[in-house]
Amino acid sequence: MPDSNTPTRPNVLVIAGHDPSGGAGIHADIEAVHAMGAHPCTLITGLTVQNSINVTGFQLTDTTLLEQQADALLDDLSFAAVKIGMTGSAAIIDMVARLLDRLPGVPVVLDPVLAAEAGGSLGEDTVPRALLQQLFPKAALVTPNLPEAQALAGAETIDACGEALLDAGALSVLVTGTHDNTPSVHNHLFMRSGTRRWETARLPGSFHGSGCTLASACAARLAFGDSLEQAVDHAQAWVAKALEQAWQPGRGQLVPLRNG
Ligand code: PLP
Repeated sequence: MPDSNTPTRPNVLVIAGHDPSGGAGIHADIEAVHAMGAHPCTLITGLTVQNSINVTGFQLTDTTLLEQQADALLDDLSFAAVKIGMTGSAAIIDMVARLLDRLPGVPVVLDPVLAAEAGGSLGEDTVPRALLQQLFPKAALVTPNLPEAQALAGAETIDACGEALLDAGALSVLVTGTHDNTPSVHNHLFMRSGTRRWETARLPGSFHGSGCTLASACAARLAFGDSLEQAVDHAQAWVAKALEQAWQPGRGQLVPLRNG
């Protein structure tokens, strides 16, 4: 039996898809949440067919099975934060929205995954609309990269995207600027109280799983009780180190080294 000296870790509920190459998706989330000192519990929304080069397919999990898994978890554990990545379909988004209603007050980080870095789709066409309508209003933080923000907001500039996505109901939106055409990378955190910007050097190469890693690190920090800005600060500093040490497991993209 654990005694009072046993360290406790906050539980983070991760809802995301499986990438068999181990770079992105649920692998990235488990590694990041664990490295940040929290405990990841997982609902796997689907299996993808991919390697470190590209995604060529996916198969989604039956929503009844996901609901049974969620019931089993909620019967037993309490959660200090939720991270949502690949959802895959409007049916899964609907199930996730109902699950979040059972976790009032728990901060939700939503990474609105639409496609892999190399372009392969990671969801049905109904996903963007369902994300905006059902999950944005429940999110403390949404973490799109610029192409995802543009697709969801129907806008071009980072500022216009941020405003439109706040209007969709998210409490805050962190738009990452890796895909922007700027010499250094600018990440923008849009909040109702204002906007904060971070600038980092642009690293060479293209990364697999950097968005998943960042969103999971934010969720883990929120689980420890950080304020939103503290969580985003901590998570970005940690992800920057993971990206500096990124390595290449195959012939394709680099994978962040998600050490503690
Ligand atoms: N989730 C899954 C299951 C994926 O396979 C991918 C990318 O391939 C992503 C999320 C998004 O990854 P990234 O963090 O590179 O945006």
